[in-house]
Amino acid sequence: MTVVPESHRPWQAKIEAFCRTHIAPHAGRMDREGEFADEVQQAMAAEGLWGAVIPRDYGGLELDTRSYAILIEEVGRVCGSTCLMLAAHCSLGCFPIVAFGTEEQKQKYLPRAAKGELVAFALTEPEAGSDAGATQTKALQQGDGSWVVQGTKCWCTNATRAFAHVITARTDDSPGVGSITCFILEPGMDGFATGKKEDKMGLRGSDTAYLHFDDLKIGDEQRLGDVGVGFKQFMITLDGGRISIGAMALGLAQAALDVSLRYAVEHRENGKPMAARQSVAFDLADMETQLTAARLLVLESAAMKDRGEPFSKYSAMAKLFASEVGRFCTYTGVGILGKDGCSERYPVERFYRDAKLCEIGEGTSEIQRLVISRALVKELEAL
Ligand SMILES: Cc1cc2nc3c(=O)[nH]c(=O)nc-3n(C[C@H](O)[C@H](O)[C@H](O)COP(=O)(O)OP(=O)(O)OC[C@H]3O[C@@H](n4cnc5c(N)ncnc54)[C@H](O)[C@@H]3O)c2cc1C
Repeated sequence: MTVVPESHRPWQAKIEAFCRTHIAPHAGRMDREGEFADEVQQAMAAEGLWGAVIPRDYGGLELDTRSYAILIEEVGRVCGSTCLMLAAHCSLGCFPIVAFGTEEQKQKYLPRAAKGELVAFALTEPEAGSDAGATQTKALQQGDGSWVVQGTKCWCTNATRAFAHVITARTDDSPGVGSITCFILEPGMDGFATGKKEDKMGLRGSDTAYLHFDDLKIGDEQRLGDVGVGFKQFMITLDGGRISIGAMALGLAQAALDVSLRYAVEHRENGKPMAARQSVAFDLADMETQLTAARLLVLESAAMKDRGEPFSKYSAMAKLFASEVGRFCTYTGVGILGKDGCSERYPVERFYRDAKLCEIGEGTSEIQRLVISRALVKELEAL
């Protein structure tokens, strides 16, 4: 990872060692069993990693965005499932509370989240995926100021483990995005049920499930931000989240390159290492080149966020490019290993299954292209 700035290399080395010791040994089992490991959650909690984006005042690490991206990449390098749960907890669950929560909400949720109790973000619904503005979940305000929530969310990461869920709901009957509001729900609330778990092709150890809200009554103190600004809030949330999914794809791509390179150097054909075969050598060169370009894009979009510059177009480009590089590197890695690449004896097939999902979650590649092209047109119009 030589394009990592000098200032961030000690952090990268520390996290790499942590991941090798505390996460890597469990990654294959989590994938096979389709369950996240408690010992991984606890080890990360002991290291404070669940508090990565939480301010120090609430017990978090308050990392700058490049340090956070490096953390996500290193976790992704050993385990996509753990990485997705960490990214969803930090970027999607905790961030909206940090950015839009009241002081009471911050005091109530962030210290627990920093200690390793998970937070989830439930936006997607069976009939509202890419078009998240089509949300059908309803929250209707009662005469006493309380709200009654009714609806179903799906594909929610951290769904069964979270102690708090940031959700979106429509707070009046108008069809536009101006009627969407965010709320914080808790699994113990009457009318909250966790539904079917997804049996996914990749990221199988990550916790993904439906959520059902049936006449769930909450006080107004559970509303996150003003009524009607939920769409804007989750667009801001996803802008940051895309940096982390890009970083996660980098981790998977790097993992595939690590395994492929070692394999190509150690395995011999007719007395020569496979790495000496030109087609394999060129594959390795393409993987390294694309990976380095993607890492520069992820780190630069992270740096722009920290400098307070508009970064939405850059985080979309980072997510788009890095997730496609993730697919390319993991696919190519399976090919370099040949039959061994299809075997569970090598983790590269897991990386390949995991990487594909990075092109879908937090906005598909097509949605990133829409975000980027709309930004370009806006830039031209502003000239
Ligand atoms: C591993 C994983 C974890 C996830 N975790 C969460 C989570 O924690 N919380 C949450 O709320 N959601 C989560 N999701 C859901 C995710 O956000 C959605 O899958 C994503 O937004 C795409 O929606 P969809 O799957 O319904 O696809 P659809 O919107 O049905 O899209 C299907 C296809 O049509 C294309 N398409 C759709 N609209 C357009 C358009 N306007 N222009 C061009 N092409 C278009 C898409 O690119 C895609 O190729 C997760 C998904 C995955 C895979």
